[in-house]
Parts: sequence; structure tokens; C-alpha cells
Amino acid sequence: MRLSVIGTGYLGAVHAACMAHLGHEVVAYDTDASKIAALSAGTSPFYEPGFDELLSTVLATGRLRFTQSVQEAVSGAAVHFVCVGTPQLAGSDAANIEYVNSAFRAVVANADCDGLIVGKSTVPVGTAQRLAEEVAKTSSGLEVAWNPEFLREGKAIEDTLQPDRLVFGVTSEYAEQALQDVYATLLDGGTPYLTADLPTSELVKVAANAFLATKISFINAMAEVCEIVDADVTVLSRALGYDERIGKRFLNAGLGFGGGCLPKDIRAFSARAGELGASDALRFLHEVDKINLRRREKAVSVARAVVGGEFLGKSIAVLGAAFKPNSDDVRDSPALNVAAAMHLKGADVRVHDPKAIDNAKARFPTLGYFDSAEEACRKADLIVLATEWDEYINIDPEAFRALVKVPRLLDTRNVIDREAWSRAGWQVYSLGRGGLHV
Ligand code: NAD
Repeated sequence: MRLSVIGTGYLGAVHAACMAHLGHEVVAYDTDASKIAALSAGTSPFYEPGFDELLSTVLATGRLRFTQSVQEAVSGAAVHFVCVGTPQLAGSDAANIEYVNSAFRAVVANADCDGLIVGKSTVPVGTAQRLAEEVAKTSSGLEVAWNPEFLREGKAIEDTLQPDRLVFGVTSEYAEQALQDVYATLLDGGTPYLTADLPTSELVKVAANAFLATKISFINAMAEVCEIVDADVTVLSRALGYDERIGKRFLNAGLGFGGGCLPKDIRAFSARAGELGASDALRFLHEVDKINLRRREKAVSVARAVVGGEFLGKSIAVLGAAFKPNSDDVRDSPALNVAAAMHLKGADVRVHDPKAIDNAKARFPTLGYFDSAEEACRKADLIVLATEWDEYINIDPEAFRALVKVPRLLDTRNVIDREAWSRAGWQVYSLGRGGLHV
């Protein structure tokens, strides 16, 4: 099938390449000319494992093209995927859907044949219905569907080609059939799919993110209590996780969630509930958000305490800038947030990340950045492990002991082997595991 993809960020670029991999002819458009230039040249503008390889393979087939002309992308396509950003609106908790509105308008203005416009962006419930009505007013040959995206950065290709499930928010058999045709290979391979009305399909995505955020904040709330009574949240979490009704995933206590999705999505969901007169139903998400942000404050206060009660004159290595490992995404990154807070309070902060340094520099240019973890840690008074990259989990504590000024580590992600580090002479502090009355 001939598809267009509007918006080639983390979601859209991967979606476009994966659809071409499945055999479709895809033309993708973005308003950001530098992204289009990089993608056309076979270079990913962001880090995603396996994406560079996939991109060159599908570009070589001729089935994938990137263009700066929306008309070229849209013309002749049977299905248009809208993958543009929905960031938090400045000065509000709500989502900014201006990019979605203009992407839909651009498709309608440039479509030259009948087709389906499929929203993949995460939007406030009610957006799809409104857009469907607007599109119906201006074009008789175009219809709107919603197909929420559940991919995780770091596993985006796998999640696109082998998703847990597909959700089709549709209002006609034609729309359902078109989506079945797009995803025929996955459906033939047994991927479960559900059809839903438009509002349900929008809600599936925000409800999933609200649930995941709540699970993370739940265990981090337990971590707060563990810290007071010197209990160990990692043991608590393992013990809870064996209960099949609870499950162990998303139950690792640490520095909490960040990134371009969970924080803004739970805020936008709450804001939308308020508009719909359902504030009470989602009031708990405000607590989920607050618990999450308190972990960042706790990490900063533990760091300050263990270096002697004041940051001034102290050198602190922060390992990790991305909001999670295997990504270069620093949007609302807990690691960078903690690094910046310590820097503001006077610390000399030395940051390393295997992939996210350029993005981090663009957001926080005044922090110190280093090309290797060793360089960042040289003469440090404290190492803060802030993003759980394998590279950091596998650090040899003996080797690093020789680099630092004082062998002190704050493991905010509960990932290192505490005994091995302690045996190597390190003072180890971990969020949620007691011993933090410093
Ligand atoms: P992103 O910021 O990486 O990419 C958005 C892209 O849209 C940018 O490249 C921007 O230039 C482009 N854009 C904006 N307006 C445009 C327009 N009118 N026409 C064409 N391009 C336009 O964002 P993202 O992370 O890819 O997220 C996109 C959407 O997908 C969001 O709603 C997000 O919540 C959702 N989502 C993201 C993920 C993820 O892991 N990143 C997962 C699921 C859902």
C-alpha cells in the first residue's frame, strides 16, 4: 500500500521505516528540514538501537522516502499516519495539539484521492471525534481513525514489528479494513487486535501510561517509607513481584519516570478530565506526579548530605543523562534534572552518557560533559548513577576507585552490585534501601 507518515520524530521515523520494511511504499514528511535531510541520507537524527541499520536497508529497497514537501508525501497515499508531537502546553498541564491540528489540515489540503487519516499521536480524549467532524466537513473522500502507539524508546523497532496488541479506533468497516491491510503481516503472525470507537482508542493509550506511571510511583512511595524505617525496597519489590496479581515489571524503585511521554501524558490526562468534569476520577495522578518528582529532590538531598552538607567546591560525576538507557532522549530526564539541580546549588557537575550528550548539552549547556565515564568520574567527591545503562552497571569498582577523590556512590536506580562495590572500599548509598539518614 502507499502510505504517508506526517512527523518523523522518535515515533514517526521508526513507524515509517517499519511500514516500509513490511512491504509498503512510504513517503514521510516533517516540518524540520534537518531531520528530513538526515533521514534521507540514511542517518538517524536520534539514537534508537538497530534503527540506523533498518533505515539503510529500507532506503535501499526504494520503498521509503523522506521529503520536505507535504504534498509529495500525501499525494497518492491510501493511508496517512499522523505522528507529530503533542508536548505539554506552556503554562498548563494540558497537551498542545496544535501540531496535530495542522498536520490534519495539511493532509486534507493535499490529498488527491480517497483515504484514511490515522492519528498515532497521543491526544486528549475527544480530539479524534472533533477532527473526524472537521475532516468530514471539508472532504468527502477522507475519513479519520485512531491507532494509538505503545512503542517504547530503546525497543521501538521490536515494539512496532511485534507489538503486544494493535488498537484500531474506527467508525466504519472501510477504516477497519484499511488498518487490517496495513498491518496484515503482523495480524497474520498472530498479533492481537481490538477495534474500538474513537474515544476508547484515545483512552487506551493515556490509561496505559497512567497505569505504568502509577505502578512506578507506588513502589517509589514504598521507597520513601523504607528510607525512614531502614527497610530495603528492592527486597520488598521482589517479594511483591512474585505475586502474579501484581507482577514484577515497572516495580523497580529508583529515580522515577521521565521522558517525552509519561510525565506529560498523565498531566494532560488530568487536565482533560478536569475539562470533562471528571477531576475527582484522576486526582490520584497528581500524587503520582508528586511522588515521582520527590525522588529527584531526594537524590539531590542525599547527594548533598553525603558530600558534607554543601555542594560548593564539590565535584560530582553524574552517570547518565538520557531519561532511560538505550535512548538519547533527554526530555524531562530525571538524570539531567538532578544534575542541573546540583549544579545550581554550586557543585561542579561532570556528566557522561553513552548516547545523549549532544541532546543534554543543548538543554543544559552549563554542565560539564565528558566523553567517557572514567573522565567524568576523575577526582569526583561522589558518583551519582542516574541512568541505568549496562556500561555503568558493569563498571569495575576496583578500577574506578583509583580515579575518584572519594569512593562514594549514590545508586539512584538500584542496579549495581552493592556488595561488590562495598568490598572494593566504596561508601554506597541507594534510594529506598535504608542508611540514608545522612
Ligand atoms: P518528537 O518530538 O520526537 O517528533 C515529533 C515530530 O513531529 C517532530 O520531528 C516535529 O518536527 C514534527 N512535526 C510537528 N508538527 C508537524 C507538522 N505539522 N507536520 C509534520 N511534522 C510535524 O515526538 P515523538 O516522541 O515522536 O512523539 C510523537 C507523538 O507520539 C506524541 O504524541 C507522543 O506522545 C506519541 N508517542 C511517542 C512515543 C515515544 O516513545 N516517543 C511512544 C508512543 C506515543
